[in-house]
Amino acid sequence: MEAHFLIISFYKYVNIPEPEVLREEILDYCITTGLRGKIYLANEGINASVSGTVELISGFKNYLESFPYFKNILFKEDTTEGFVFDKMHVRVKRELVHLGVSGISLENGGKRLKPEDLNNFYETGKDFIIIDTRNSWESNIGHFKNAVLPEMHTFRDWEKAVDDLSNFKDKTVVTYCTGGIRCEKASALMVEKGFKDVYQLDGGIITYLKQFPKSNWEGGCFVFDNRRLIETNDNYVANCSHCGKPTAKYINCHNLDCDKLFVCCEECRHTHEYSCSEECRKSERRRDKNYD
Ligand SMILES: [Zn+2]
Ligand SMILES: [Zn+2]
Repeated sequence: MEAHFLIISFYKYVNIPEPEVLREEILDYCITTGLRGKIYLANEGINASVSGTVELISGFKNYLESFPYFKNILFKEDTTEGFVFDKMHVRVKRELVHLGVSGISLENGGKRLKPEDLNNFYETGKDFIIIDTRNSWESNIGHFKNAVLPEMHTFRDWEKAVDDLSNFKDKTVVTYCTGGIRCEKASALMVEKGFKDVYQLDGGIITYLKQFPKSNWEGGCFVFDNRRLIETNDNYVANCSHCGKPTAKYINCHNLDCDKLFVCCEECRHTHEYSCSEECRKSERRRDKNYD
């Protein structure tokens, strides 16, 4: 019987006094067992996506539970065909997500909204604003129905986005991101700035799509592993920049001097040889063909 593979992603904001020491220990465990993925550690906590067989992942969860500060983690889990990472990286960062605003109290973040409760908001016609806290290149290929998509080059643009949304301070507001980690800070900043009824989608888009693949989500969801994209329905919101066909697919231009991330359907990917323009197609510095 072929091996079954899983990807788990999770985060936890918790005080880790010596992330460098923990890094060595976790890296050692992962290399020895053969897990692959990306784990980020900081004084403020852990953020990770890890891929392996069902047995390896189950062992890894038990291993994490052996650390007092990693109790009660919410794991998001999906089955995959084999590993979805090439290597194991464990890195120490200054912050898990960099908002560029100091002194935010995460305990005052938005109230947690379950996927079914979000659907309820939609179905009952509740008066609410739903806001995407991700970068524009993520939200452009997929987002919730009627979502506000602030212009975001990096997460540091969020403060300006919140200031631009100050007309909605008295409304019910729902923030969402891929797995929830960005919203912990994003929603806390809104509360701090005087928004009165703030929610954050619990477990993020990934958790929502797992339960409701064809409900109030439109398009694809960018993910940071080799799958690159989760597509659960064909309510596309983006168009191929070559032929205009609705799609959620995107690639980085294979001209290494361009490398632009652009929306491109499966067919045009081949006919335009992974290039955003004719000029880039003729470039001599090109990425290896086998790489998307
Ligand atoms: Zn196309
Ligand atoms: Zn290009």
